Parts: sequence; C-alpha cells; structure tokens
Amino acid sequence: MSKDPRTRLIHHPYVPPAGFGAPVVGVHKASTVFFADTAALQARTWKEKTGYTYGLHGTPTTFMLEERIATLEGGLQTLLVPSGLAALSLVDMALLRSGDEVLIPDNAYGPNKELARHELAAWGIGHRFYDPMDAGALKAMIGPATRLVWLEAPGSVTMEFPDLAELTRVARDAGVLTALDNTWGTGLAFDAFDLPLSEGGSVAVDISVQALTKYASGGGDVLMGSVTTREEALHLRLKLCHMRMGWGVGLNDVEFVLRSLPTLALRYEAQDWAGRRLAEWWATRPEVTHVLHPALPGSPGHEHWRRLSTKAAGLFSVVFDEKYSQAQVHAFVDALRLFKIGFSWAGPVSLVVPYQLAGMRSQPTWKGTLVRFSIGFEAVEDLLADCEQALELL
Ligand SMILES: *Cc1c(COP(=O)(O)O)cnc(C)c1O
Repeated sequence: MSKDPRTRLIHHPYVPPAGFGAPVVGVHKASTVFFADTAALQARTWKEKTGYTYGLHGTPTTFMLEERIATLEGGLQTLLVPSGLAALSLVDMALLRSGDEVLIPDNAYGPNKELARHELAAWGIGHRFYDPMDAGALKAMIGPATRLVWLEAPGSVTMEFPDLAELTRVARDAGVLTALDNTWGTGLAFDAFDLPLSEGGSVAVDISVQALTKYASGGGDVLMGSVTTREEALHLRLKLCHMRMGWGVGLNDVEFVLRSLPTLALRYEAQDWAGRRLAEWWATRPEVTHVLHPALPGSPGHEHWRRLSTKAAGLFSVVFDEKYSQAQVHAFVDALRLFKIGFSWAGPVSLVVPYQLAGMRSQPTWKGTLVRFSIGFEAVEDLLADCEQALELL
C-alpha cells in the first residue's frame, strides 16, 4: 500500500457486509450492545477492540474513524473525544498526577494554557511555559518533576514554527513524554512520528493530538478531537482514562468526519495555495509590519518549516503598524464582507479574528494589533478584493 495519505485515506480496510459491495461504512448507533450469552458477557473486555461491549466504548463506525485517523497520522492507535480541547485535557488527565509538572510552549493554543492555570494547578500539577524557539531553554527547564512536554507547530496566532525534531529529541533524551497538538499539520504537512533530525536519523513524538473540528471535518459543523499513539502501553494508559471519564462522540458526527476524509488532502492543498497568495499580497502592503505565515521567508521559524515540510495550512496573521489604533484595526475587520468574524478554521467560510498580544504571552512578541485570517473556499480574487476595500477605511 502507498504511504501517501491521499491514497491511504481512500483505500481503507473496511469490509462491507456480504453481498453489499459499497465502500462507505454504515452509521452504527448504539448504547446497548447485546451479548450472546452470560459467558460472552463475563468474557467481555473493553481494553482491546476484539468485540463490542457498549456504545460508549465503540461501534463499527467509531472503530473505523479511529483506524482512519491513525493511518492519517502514521500512528497505530487513536482515541476519539468530543472536541480538540478534550483531546488536550485527556492527555493531561491520563498522564499527570499531583506533584508532576508539564511544560507548555508559550505560544500554545490558549485554552491548553488555561487548563494548566486552573484545573491542573488546583490538582497540584505544576506548569511552566517555555520559549519554543529555543531548544536549549527547554532542555534547561526540564526537571525531576517534569512528566510531559507539549509541542505545537506552528504556535497559535503568532505562527512561529519551532524546530520540532530538536524539541522532541530534548524531551526524549530527558525521558519525558511529548504530546504534539498537530491540528495545523493534520498528518499531511509532516509525519509527527518520523521527524527528521538535522544530523540525520529521526525522532517521534509520543502522542499526536488533533482538533478534527478543523481540517478532518472541514465543514465548520462538527466538534471532535483525536489522540494518536504508536506505543501500545501508552495508548492503554490514555484509553483507560478515556473510558473512566466517559467521553463518547456522536455517531452522526463520526459519519461527517468519515465522509470528509477522502477530500482532506485536496482541501488542505487548496486552502494552502489560497492562503499563500493572500499572505504574499499582505506582505506588499504598507499598513502591516509583519506577515506571520511559516511558508513566507522572514516569518519566524520559516527555516524550520522548510526543513520539515512543503505544505502549510490556510492560516496566517498580520501585524498592523503601531500607528493604527486598536479601534482602527477593529474598524478594518468590521468592514470585511466575505471574511466573517469568528473562531476556528479550515471550513468553507473565510474567518478573521483580531488579537491583542498583551497578556497572551509571557514575553511580548509583536507590538501593534494582530489580525488572524483563516482561508475558506471562496475565490481568492474575491478575498483579495475584500481585504483591499476594507483597508481603504484606514
Ligand atoms: C481549534 C483548536 C483546538 C481545539 O479544538 P476544539 O474542537 O475547538 O475544541 C486545539 N488546538 C488547536 C491548535 C486548535 O486550532
């Protein structure tokens, strides 16, 4: 079988019922699953996928999506959870205990940091935020209580692309588990379980997490997350916590994601292409001082991205010149017609969100108001014209 996800996402191991040669798995819904007899009831095990025990622990449809995401990520086992944020919290809950410490990149997805500041802190779990652009600083920060290092590439909103392989190696050499929020790369931009090191060889993260809400769904209509591993023992630690917490996913949502996966690579490429065209256009505009897109030379960590990948998500940020007030930038955002103001990304509608970085980072990075764009499927000429007409307001 090809290693290319474009092929592997279409040719899957599903075997349809005898005499029904259709390629699409049915939507199998259940809370109750019948056992043939009391012996079968007593012999049930929910740890391995050798059979079905209860709807919460999987149906043929969820098993199929788990297999599909593991294939996409180059992993071996996947767990599904009700949102991307639930995937982050599952990893923390399964692996961290009172007295432990977790290290989180300073530019991580905001709610990951909030979880550490509130629930983890209340449970006696420490956290510190590290500069993801400095592997030496991470190395110096790892201490005897450190149990988990979160990774994200690129960082949320400010889009710095770290040396992912080097950060992973630093944690591995210290015997600390790594978990990557791989929503941006989505299993297509790079292989989280095979990250090339600069001196040759490669290194793997222990856990890759995705908000399937974004690219895997692609419709802006599903919330779901995944937690993928390659190591059975680690998978079981996560799975047992997952079972005890009772995190199930809706079967209609699973169906939506299964239906979207065959077009994942095409959608990713289309939004990448449009995102770069828009980012390049913004780079010519005098109103902004920086365009933050890993594929643009000069964007922080561009060389790390280039060593690892040729692909990028359709997502970038611009930093407006300080001479424009926050109110002026907000007026620009309000004047956009096609770009809708809203969170999330990778759906059909282009989205925009203004950010004030003060308070979001331990170290302030950019001055001036930052605006993040997520590119949908509209004609790129129309999106450019929309930005141009709204800029006239400045
Ligand atoms: C959206 C997102 C999440 C959270 O996903 P939800 O399904 O919205 O909870 C986590 N990490 C990253 C990088 C995201 O973009």
